[in-house]
Amino acid sequence: MTDLTHLTIADALDGLAAKKFSARELTDAHLRKMATLKKLNAYITETPERALAQAEASDKRRAADGKVGALDGIPLGIKDLFCTEGVQTTAGSHILEGFKPTYESTVTKNLFDAGAVMLGKLNLDEFAMGSSNKTSYYGNVINPWKRQGDTTDLVPGGSSGGSSAAVAARIAMAATGTDTGGSIRQPTYGRCSRWGIVAFASSLDQAGPIARSVEDCAIMLGAMAGHDPKDSTSAEMPVPDFRKGLTGNIKGLRVGIPKEYRVDGMSQEISDLWAKGAEWLKSQGAEIKEISLPHTKYALPTYYIIAPAEASSNLARYDGVRFGLRVPGKSLDETYELTRAAGFGKEVKRRILIGTYVLSAGYYDAYYLQAQKVRALILKDFTDAFKDVDVILTPSTPSAAFGFNENEGDPVQMYLQDVFTVTVNLAGLPGISVPAGLDAKGLPLGLQMIGRAFDEETLLRSAQVLERVANFTALPAGV
Ligand code: GLN
Repeated sequence: MTDLTHLTIADALDGLAAKKFSARELTDAHLRKMATLKKLNAYITETPERALAQAEASDKRRAADGKVGALDGIPLGIKDLFCTEGVQTTAGSHILEGFKPTYESTVTKNLFDAGAVMLGKLNLDEFAMGSSNKTSYYGNVINPWKRQGDTTDLVPGGSSGGSSAAVAARIAMAATGTDTGGSIRQPTYGRCSRWGIVAFASSLDQAGPIARSVEDCAIMLGAMAGHDPKDSTSAEMPVPDFRKGLTGNIKGLRVGIPKEYRVDGMSQEISDLWAKGAEWLKSQGAEIKEISLPHTKYALPTYYIIAPAEASSNLARYDGVRFGLRVPGKSLDETYELTRAAGFGKEVKRRILIGTYVLSAGYYDAYYLQAQKVRALILKDFTDAFKDVDVILTPSTPSAAFGFNENEGDPVQMYLQDVFTVTVNLAGLPGISVPAGLDAKGLPLGLQMIGRAFDEETLLRSAQVLERVANFTALPAGV
């Protein structure tokens, strides 16, 4: 039998329906591979017993009446930011160590209702703050990809580094992630419920899938999405059949190339890949148009004011009384202080300090309010651009994966990784990143596509065409 861990979700669903293998066998194959790839540190908590029980239940459903959910028997990894009932949920932080929620997040509930199997909880940057997974209290995740002829361990990106590494290394068929400023790329803000997801910056956070094909993303998103009365920002919109929308046809599609994304210092390789991406889409019948998003240059400072401001407010709830860690002091105040001092890492403390500062009396107008105004202008740039184009094409990141000791020391260097992605969260739009080529050192590079609000169908359809023409088939060594 072929290695079941290499199948896409679409193929695995076909195989399960045709009884070529069982959900139990599929889950077993993943659990075995997880045991051999522990060095990647992708999972914080593995849940093999639960996975096998869910897989066996799926096999029973299939045998009984064949009535199965959209993801029945598919083994997934869940970012450890999603609350899972009875299973430790850490958000990558010491302060939540040992926290076992008594409830299930809406997105994971939707996935389990659709028959998905949970292999475990995936590592991430602490409270999803980071671009390299280095801020996790539970240690770095190692990227399964290496530069050619070089054994240096590379970062898997962030904050959903465990999710991306697990999916690339075939130790999860797909995974959930969340995106606040570029972690995975996401559906429109409001498409997936944020209920039961540990909050980082509530007006920017959005859940989404990481998968190995656009079709798998469409299947995952269909199961994750939907209106949820428990989240007041959840959109009351019907969920289209995203998979059905993948017609492979982009004739007449207007693709925007924003000139402001040609940032200083962009590598030739990335700029060449971007040009190639546009050519590929054109070869499939799309029309390429240069567009302008003039406020792009303010996006990073705007994001790094709004995200910490919201984080400082959201993280106030970790007081040593209600969740996870408690370091007792002589008074309640001292308990708060000792718990938060011991429980939060350096990056989280930095963001709480910045956030508290920009929200404080006297600075609020100059920073936070100003950032909110610029945010409105960034959204307006996109609204104007989408009068002329249907999707926008840009690079995903300014560089390929870097080593653990590179980009060290200066947090601003790390924040610059998000230059192409934060605009999308600030505007609440859907985005996707498609692996499109390898750099000279053999590392994958991605292209990002951005769509209109609630038009994930066009976005996924275009991304699938890009995926088809890019024909990215490379695998990390040893996988
Ligand atoms: N890198 C960004 C940050 O550190 C966004 C990470 C994310 O999307 N969770 O805030």
